[in-house]
Amino acid sequence: MRWGQAFIPTLREAPADAVTSSHRLLLRGGYIRQVAPGVFAHLFLAQKSLSRIKQIIREEMNRIGGQEIGLPVLSLSPPGNESRLGEAASDLFKLRDRNQHELDLGAAREEAMAQIAHGELRSYKQLPQIWYQIQRKFRDEPRPKSGLLRLREFAMADACSFDLDEAGLEVSYQKHVDACTRVFRRCGLKYLYAQTHSTLTAENISSEFVAPCEVGENLVAVCDCGYAANVQTAEAKSPPAHDLDGNAPLEAFATPGVKTIDDLVRFTSESPTRMIKTLVYMAEGQPVVLLLRGDQNLSEPKLARVLGADVFRPATPEEALRLHGASLGSLGPVGLKGTRLIADRSLDGRKNLMAGANQDETHLRNVTPGRDFTAESRDIRLATEDDLCLRCGNHLHVAKTIEVGRLAKLGGHYSEAMHTTVLNQHGKEVPLMMGCYGIGLERILAATVEQNHDDDGIFLPRAIAPFDLIVTAAQMDDGPVRTAAEKLYEEAQAQALEVLFDDRAERPGVKFKDADLIGVPYRVTLGRRKLEQGLVEIFERSTKRIEDVKLENVVRYLKENYLR
Ligand SMILES: [Zn+2]
Repeated sequence: MRWGQAFIPTLREAPADAVTSSHRLLLRGGYIRQVAPGVFAHLFLAQKSLSRIKQIIREEMNRIGGQEIGLPVLSLSPPGNESRLGEAASDLFKLRDRNQHELDLGAAREEAMAQIAHGELRSYKQLPQIWYQIQRKFRDEPRPKSGLLRLREFAMADACSFDLDEAGLEVSYQKHVDACTRVFRRCGLKYLYAQTHSTLTAENISSEFVAPCEVGENLVAVCDCGYAANVQTAEAKSPPAHDLDGNAPLEAFATPGVKTIDDLVRFTSESPTRMIKTLVYMAEGQPVVLLLRGDQNLSEPKLARVLGADVFRPATPEEALRLHGASLGSLGPVGLKGTRLIADRSLDGRKNLMAGANQDETHLRNVTPGRDFTAESRDIRLATEDDLCLRCGNHLHVAKTIEVGRLAKLGGHYSEAMHTTVLNQHGKEVPLMMGCYGIGLERILAATVEQNHDDDGIFLPRAIAPFDLIVTAAQMDDGPVRTAAEKLYEEAQAQALEVLFDDRAERPGVKFKDADLIGVPYRVTLGRRKLEQGLVEIFERSTKRIEDVKLENVVRYLKENYLR
């Protein structure tokens, strides 16, 4: 492609609302333009990169026996899908047709694939199956932001596996872990593979592939021993606490205006690790009191597992008042009767702590779990940077990441709801075992940009860059330079390289700036002076290393040393 004819609308400045590097640089590099909040047009460069990502996914899905299918974007809302989809249901785009039939836009693929399987897969002889598609999806995202990181319309590769039993499902799941690993490695993405919670039900095994980067909002606890899990799921141990010695009696003290743990820290000048945070939740109409260390936070996915329920919510101030006889801010565990009390494990063996007194603007000192109240000890908190790894005892590190892939063992979740069974070898009807797997295409591109950029622009790995190479004629008005550049452009294309030929009549400085911006890994520059000695310049964008090479060898040299 000749740059002079290409539509690559680079910008010197990005709009002020583009905060993350990928958003800013993909706009500036002329990859994307915003059409509506969370909705972007992919221009020429983005489309080229995304096609390469798509191709890598196809090759790796085909390698594990995946069969590509195409499902429609529009589907009838199946009755009862809200309960099957769990928390994802509220983000679906809904519309009505002229006959007032309710339709979903880009609804859950696993739902649609499960429906097809329901009518068609009847015997163990047809199993296992892996179906996948690469298709646009829609989410009524409440806070679209960060360019391609949080979108309302996006492309995903979705796969479903169908197996006869748990053992088969495990094999299919592992195949997808391998396929995802190869996809992300080939894309040149730095990634972690982490355990996570299921968005569907508390019991399903799920994992995620995540790309560490500064703007990531998905927190993953990582240990040098290889353990990695989302902080919502991670099992971790608190370091030993230093409590006051002695068996001091409970003591109430006035705390006027204290509403939060932070207020209490300011009021008492004590560490929040010596305080008990009391939360009240409602599950199936019943209150559940949750106790955490003052500096720690609740993990709702862990709570879901403990409660064995997916539907619960924080109590309203009125509900809490009815239970505790006090307003939020002064709640505590001491003296509560007839309510389920769950204390996080980090409160095990602690003593002389502070907690609300269940009396407005009053707290208690010297609260000792086991002596002053009895609670179930469970793991219900988010893992933190302070925590120790349960496997090896070393400190965990919490990494900010972007989720790029998600895998889940659905097991019989859909087939039981839809009564989908298959005949096993003994002629017995058994529920069909399903797994579902997803990879976000724009997420890969944006996360790679987050990981590979500097002040001048983007440097994408070759596998997903829109071009392998830019050939830059420094002086297009110079006859020998132009002729040599044209010839090199032809030759590189003949050698199956994706080449962008910068044939624009711009100053060299402008051309270099644009080339640095748009993320092509290599540039070959033909300039008058070096060309007189038969030399051209190879510039490696990621390292900014420059190498002079003989013009007649340059394509072979590039292929042997850089573009293998
Ligand atoms: Zn460890």
